[in-house]
Amino acid sequence: MLDLLRVQGSASRAQIAEGTGLSRATISAITANLRRSGLIVRSDTAVEGSGVGRTPEHLTLNPGSRVIVGVEFSHTRVTVVVSDVTHRVLGSKVREHDHDEPWERRLGTAIGFIDALVGATLTLIAIGSGVPGAISGRSGVVDRVEQCLGDRYRVPVRVENNARLAGLAEFSWGAGKDMQDLVYLRLSEGVGGLLIVDDEPRLGNTDSAGEFGHVCIDPNGPVCRCANRGCLEAYVGLGTVLARADAASVGELIEALDRAEPRALAVTTDAGARIGLVLANTCSILDISSVVLGGALAQVGDQLVRAVRQMVVRHAYSGGAEQLRIRTAELGNLDGALGGVALVLRDRSIPVGFRPKAMTSTTQRGKALTA
Ligand SMILES: [Zn+2]
Repeated sequence: MLDLLRVQGSASRAQIAEGTGLSRATISAITANLRRSGLIVRSDTAVEGSGVGRTPEHLTLNPGSRVIVGVEFSHTRVTVVVSDVTHRVLGSKVREHDHDEPWERRLGTAIGFIDALVGATLTLIAIGSGVPGAISGRSGVVDRVEQCLGDRYRVPVRVENNARLAGLAEFSWGAGKDMQDLVYLRLSEGVGGLLIVDDEPRLGNTDSAGEFGHVCIDPNGPVCRCANRGCLEAYVGLGTVLARADAASVGELIEALDRAEPRALAVTTDAGARIGLVLANTCSILDISSVVLGGALAQVGDQLVRAVRQMVVRHAYSGGAEQLRIRTAELGNLDGALGGVALVLRDRSIPVGFRPKAMTSTTQRGKALTA
């Protein structure tokens, strides 16, 4: 029940029964015990009801003053969010920087933000952080982020790919929150993503699952950042798409689409078709039901989604292709940092709630991203 509450934030007794398979009577008994011990409390945030009858009481972990920090280091931005253990976001800060910003300064920015947001009254319990996947010296960066934040705050620090974290956030709170399986694509400078099957993120044998940007769509195509040829990213990376459309920004591209400019329409449709081809193949292999498109390029919206859908329907073998749900992301530019919070909440090796000593168990350190 505690694990369910830490991953879901809050839940009614009926939702706990569904999620745990326990009977209502057992849940009532356990709930009464946990409330007496102060481990769980009644949620004080209003929950949307059906409008008929009383809204059922929702329960959450006891938040106390404990907070989790999520940090995203993208290619050009540092983002920090602070959330309590009931999934309530208490604050956030963002700063844009140049591509060549040294890591020392990025870390300095993050530390300044964390100090300001956590302050003296809150207790920081863990940090989840995202870093870009395809960066030179990535493993060095991962170690450095872990060490720097760990040394300063003396709390567990988990580091993951930032596109995956954005996907995890959409799955937890955004466009994918009611889905059981999901392909999340982050369409930005780089193209990354996250694959979720049966409610579980799939990391792969060597921890590199979900690299949709490096699926080859033409072995004789242009050279990609990864040195292979014809990767999806080489066609639909943000810089490439904007250059082809002769637009300086996504905003300009959207304006050109609103004016129905042929060049903008053609470039967007071409990008959507290539993304759709990769998704059609993914559907044929995995028979997934849902797709969420995130990142800057996804802001283009309908025009892109239509082109993606057309290609999926045309090429996917799976019978469900026509019913495939394709949505655009909902969490905006806090997504990667929010994913850092979700990463901590799903990592049961990190105790997050108020736990009386007698109830502390020595859980094994789980693999990152797994619940
Ligand atoms: Zn590549």
